[in-house]
Amino acid sequence: MTTVTRFAPSPTGRLHLGHAYSALFARQEARSRRGRFLLRIEDIDASRCRAEFEAGIYEDLAWLGLSWETPVRRQSEHLAEYQEALDRLAGEGLLYPCFCTRAEIKAEIARAGAAPHGPPQGPDGGPIYPGTCRELADDERRRRRAAGEPFALRLDMRKAAATAGELFFRDVAHGRVLATPEIFGDVILARKDTPTSYHLAVAVDDHAQGVTLVTRGADLFASTHVHRLLQALLGLGTPEYHHHKLIFGSDGQKLSKRAEAPSLQSLRESGHSPEEVRLMAIAASAR
Ligand code: GLU
Repeated sequence: MTTVTRFAPSPTGRLHLGHAYSALFARQEARSRRGRFLLRIEDIDASRCRAEFEAGIYEDLAWLGLSWETPVRRQSEHLAEYQEALDRLAGEGLLYPCFCTRAEIKAEIARAGAAPHGPPQGPDGGPIYPGTCRELADDERRRRRAAGEPFALRLDMRKAAATAGELFFRDVAHGRVLATPEIFGDVILARKDTPTSYHLAVAVDDHAQGVTLVTRGADLFASTHVHRLLQALLGLGTPEYHHHKLIFGSDGQKLSKRAEAPSLQSLRESGHSPEEVRLMAIAASAR
């Protein structure tokens, strides 16, 4: 089977050294197995994604010496596929509308969270949804929807995990891993203003693109538990995974757009060559 890898950036800022490492890693994994390397633009969040950042992605990757197959998959062009997946999950009774605001969720957690160690946290550091809206009666759901109250669609995690049964995924570094998506609680799969979540879109896209090896940063390792569950529920393919080390700056801080990591654009403009930037990415990965 031909190996197919992908790099899947979100056009919410300019790419930095961490992205360069991740893109080069995906391309290298494909190359060493005589496989294919794909690009995907994760532009679901219309409030944060900008056309100029998407143009910047193509510019930076080409400058780094990467080439990819066309057409590039842009998530915003595939909303009907995500909707189809949502409809399928809804048809199986695995979704429910959640009307809670962030403030209400916080208040509910504070009320219930008299636990000595504070409220339970999901692997992404956020609080686990306490399940308030899971218990709403059908007629109340109908009434609130009819009244135009905004809502998100959440996965009934317990029911979903029970439906799917025991699941595993394979990670190159960790071997065979038992999927425990329950650690995330009832994840959101769609919002009023964002018609699909990262989790749902990734599971659908990796299948649609025929990706056989998902390479991405170790910060997304926990998400794979949810992706594996969605793959099982939706009858999608299960790629192999290779979560790579995260890149740290010389100050020991994780590189992210928020931490103002120097962009590839600024490194280029200050006279660095693509080869130097490739070496910088590799050196940072060894820190
Ligand atoms: N779009 C995600 C990011 O920029 C990566 C998603 C993935 O590789 O699964 O962090």
